[in-house]
Amino acid sequence: MTMTRRDFLSASAALAAAPALGAGAWGAPLPREADIVVIGAGAAGIAAARRIQAANRTVIVVEASSQIGGRCLTDTAAFGVPFDRGARWLHNPDTNPMLKLARDAGLDIYTPPQGQKIRIGRRNARAGETEEFLAALVRANRAIDDASRGKADVACASAMPKDLGDWTGTAEFVLGANATAKDLKDISVIDKARAQDRNAAIACRQGLGTLVAKLGAPLPVALSTPASRVSWGSRDVTVETPAGRIAARAAVITVSSNVLAAGNIKFTPDIPKRQLDAAAKLSLGSYDHIALQLPGNPLGLARDDIIIEQSNSTRTALLFANIGSSSLCAVDVAGSFGRELSGQGEAAMVAFAVEWLTKLFGSDVATAVKKSSATRWNAAPYVLGAMSAAVPGGQPSRKILTEPVGCMFLAGEATHETLWGTVDGAWESGERAAEAALRRIGALRDTEPEAAPARAPRQRRYIAAPVRPVTPRSPIN
Ligand SMILES: Cc1cc2nc3c(=O)[nH]c(=O)nc-3n(C[C@H](O)[C@H](O)[C@H](O)COP(=O)(O)OP(=O)(O)OC[C@H]3O[C@@H](n4cnc5c(N)ncnc54)[C@H](O)[C@@H]3O)c2cc1C
Repeated sequence: MTMTRRDFLSASAALAAAPALGAGAWGAPLPREADIVVIGAGAAGIAAARRIQAANRTVIVVEASSQIGGRCLTDTAAFGVPFDRGARWLHNPDTNPMLKLARDAGLDIYTPPQGQKIRIGRRNARAGETEEFLAALVRANRAIDDASRGKADVACASAMPKDLGDWTGTAEFVLGANATAKDLKDISVIDKARAQDRNAAIACRQGLGTLVAKLGAPLPVALSTPASRVSWGSRDVTVETPAGRIAARAAVITVSSNVLAAGNIKFTPDIPKRQLDAAAKLSLGSYDHIALQLPGNPLGLARDDIIIEQSNSTRTALLFANIGSSSLCAVDVAGSFGRELSGQGEAAMVAFAVEWLTKLFGSDVATAVKKSSATRWNAAPYVLGAMSAAVPGGQPSRKILTEPVGCMFLAGEATHETLWGTVDGAWESGERAAEAALRRIGALRDTEPEAAPARAPRQRRYIAAPVRPVTPRSPIN
């Protein structure tokens, strides 16, 4: 029995060599001034810079790391096929601007076969069992939605139905750690209920990191150039970097909520406590991919198969197998278990993945692993986690982060009220912040239409798509 990818998800640039400090990706020295300076070259920063250029204003993007992309990072070197170390799916094809951008950039967008399997021990769940699980998800989502209309914001865990039986742990994993990088006990019901459906799952064959890097390639991006201090007022801003200072009339700041809350960029005067508190309430959860190259398809799975298990413990994961018909498989770990595991290091992560797959498939996975690599986003110094999810009471913080601070405008996935934790949410937030900055410097009139189209209203997540029977698929070559 299979459930469609929609059910599942609803419920729930190659690594560049580091350029010299301050040298731009475009090869010019760091300019000393620009109309608007953008901090961070992830999806939000690249979207912001493109919007500013489209308004014929000068922009410079400073990026602390050695590549464009931030949490969209494709490693093409390790496995011979693109491995997305961060985001890998684009959702909502009807409204997601990244799909058109990817096609226009000549990248190959494809919808992997729709269908996921649930393992119960060493067998696949039967049709009736999968239906039971989908029904459990529907009820859990409805309970969270109902709780979000209550007087006080509470944790999703406290809203969960108590009678999900054997599916309790799996529902918690799919709705919590796997969807948001945090356990349900750490997520606000209002934040979760307001999140727009992440329906469908569309992949970019060359990787989402490749996509963002390509979209940023024509822009003036100074790599390996961390902003260390921002001196700001209501009319101008100076950004200090080890390669020099940039004076601008406005700044768009796209660093993650954890980077902002950690105080890794100093502000003069201090950034208001209101914004810092908001960032802290939108802290990043933990989500990592443990990549295993498994030649010969020892798990006997089809291309792009997604597997979860019936689990009564938080020590569980999601498998994305035979990615794009290759022998690359990724075991995803998330939430508090993922955080604990990633804290133990890459070897422990790979050992868990091997042990977990052996438990579910019985085959000798350990000897089949040709190569492995695990991401550790919590330890990535310029990101410090995976994606934001509001603590109970923290949902209004998203709006607070969008309030202008002098001539500084914050952007990034955490500032999007409904598409937080996504690439397209980050992209849209960057465009919005750029427009606010352009208005501030008088480069855009209030009457001018915004670049980003209005999104369709959020869809109800608990309306499950029809359950489809399993159609056996031939294993990959
Ligand atoms: C493992 C994982 C899986 C994910 N899966 C998906 C998915 O399938 N689909 C999806 O839509 N989303 C997914 N996401 C979430 C998605 O990746 C993010 O929401 C999105 O990429 C965030 O973009 P951003 O621009 O807001 O932030 P970032 O990508 O974090 O960009 C911020 C940039 O600021 C830079 N920076 C930090 N400090 C400084 C400084 N001092 N000076 C200059 N630059 C600085 C950073 O290096 C970074 O490049 C996933 C995330 C992770 C980690």
